[in-house]
This record gives sequence, structure tokens and C-alpha cells, in this order.
Amino acid sequence: AGSLTLVATPIGNLGDISARAIATLNAADVILCEDTRVTAKLLKAYNVSTPTQILHDHNEEGRIPGLLSRLQSGAKMALVSDAGTPLVSDPGFRLARAAIAEGLNVGAVPGPSAATLALTLSGLPPHPYLFSGFAASRSSARRSQFAVLRAAEQAGFSATLIWYEAPHRLLDMIEDLIAVFGAERQAAVARELTKRFEEVRRGTLSELRTHFTQTDPRGEITILVGPTEEDTALSEEDLDARLRTALKTHSIKD
Ligand code: SAM
Repeated sequence: AGSLTLVATPIGNLGDISARAIATLNAADVILCEDTRVTAKLLKAYNVSTPTQILHDHNEEGRIPGLLSRLQSGAKMALVSDAGTPLVSDPGFRLARAAIAEGLNVGAVPGPSAATLALTLSGLPPHPYLFSGFAASRSSARRSQFAVLRAAEQAGFSATLIWYEAPHRLLDMIEDLIAVFGAERQAAVARELTKRFEEVRRGTLSELRTHFTQTDPRGEITILVGPTEEDTALSEEDLDARLRTALKTHSIKD
């Protein structure tokens, strides 16, 4: 039977590929990738000559039936993204879900992902954590996403929060985080991880704003916000009342 293997690749430092990743890429009949030029460089660095085919967000859905039937007839496919772990803010989820639903062999070769690497370097509590990919690009939409998380904190669920962000949006992002979580909240900005200009800045949101106002943010960025330090644990009566309300709302909707 065929197989689909999700293969993680480096997020900047070519030394971070695993032995199993190289073996899997070599053994595959085809490598599905986001951008053939980006992946060609990677394959050249490791002397892999397996052919590549494009799978990106815009063609993924349409390609699923064809790819599933090739898997069913025995093809060995590897899936990579431009960098890091495929599916994580990258293409591949819809194909993997469809292959799983068909009962096909889906495996993975684990490796780097900017979110978990930034989490471990941030100095913020590693769990619970909530990774949200990229926040909305419009400020108003972003603030409402944050407001939902803030409401969760007030209801007693608090976690270290993680987002990917583009450098030109970093300051606006920090501004919106301050508006919802407050300027004194602990946070971190991890930049260019595993690369030459790797930097992890830790401090309050207000300190990060000052720093990135003075120095232009550049490169690839992951931003993290620590959990609230307020005591948001609910009393038994509060919990009871909230559960009642939740159940009521539920039955009205149903
Ligand atoms: N699949 C990738 C992973 O597992 O990390 C993420 C892909 S996503 C399209 C790319 C975003 O991840 C970048 O815009 C940046 O926010 C973050 N990122 C990727 N590489 C990074 C690095 N070396 N340092 C910090 N953040 C990084």
C-alpha cells in the first residue's frame, strides 16, 4: 500500500534536518511541496533527487482526489513545506485529513517548528499553551480575536499564547495585545530562530514595544504572551452558575 509521510524540514539552519527525513525524502516516489524552487535548494543540499510536485493552499482541495487514488495504487509520497513542520500554518491539512478518512497510511517525520522552539526559549510557562497561527491582518479583527482569549482568562483558562507574525505588522500587533492584555503582561518576541541573527527578546509588552520602536523588526518572527498572573480560579458557586448558563444557552440553541 502507498503512504503519505509529513516530513519536517529546517526553519533556517540546514543542520536541523533529521537522518530519517533525508531517508524518507530519498525513498519517496514524489515529494509534494509548496514551492519547487525552495524545496529544490533543500534537496540539493542533501543530495536528494526525488521529483517534486506543487501542493499549496490554492490547489490543495482540487488535487486531493487524484492524490488519494495514487496513494491507493501504492505511491509513496512525502509532503514538505517551505520550512518547518508541514500543516502548521502551512499546506497539507486537507490532504492529510482526507487520507486519514480513507484509511490510508499517514505517517510523519517530526522536526523543527518555530512555535514550539519559540515556546521553549521564551522563558514563559510551556503549558498550557495555545498556538493560533497568524492573527487576523486587520487590527479590529485581531482585537476581537484577543478579546475572546481575554474572556477565557477571566473565566479561569489561562495559557501562554503564540502567534506567527510578519515583521511589518509586529508593532501594530504589540499595540493590539497591549490594548487587550495590558502593557505589563510578560511576553517574548523570537526572531530568526536557528539562523545567524537569532534573537529572543523577553519582557513586558510595553518593553517590547519600546524596543521595536527603536529598532526596526526584521526577519521571521514568532510572538508569545504569557498567562495572566491574576487569580482567575472560579469559586464553586461561580462555576456552578456559569455551567448552568452554558447549559441553558445550549438547550435554547438546540
Ligand atoms: N510550518 C512552519 C513551522 O512549523 O514553523 C511555519 C510556517 S509559517 C508560513 C511561517 C512563519 O513562521 C513566519 O512568518 C514566522 O512568523 C514563523 N517562523 C518561521 N521560521 C521562523 C524562525 N526561524 N524564527 C521565528 N519565527 C519563524
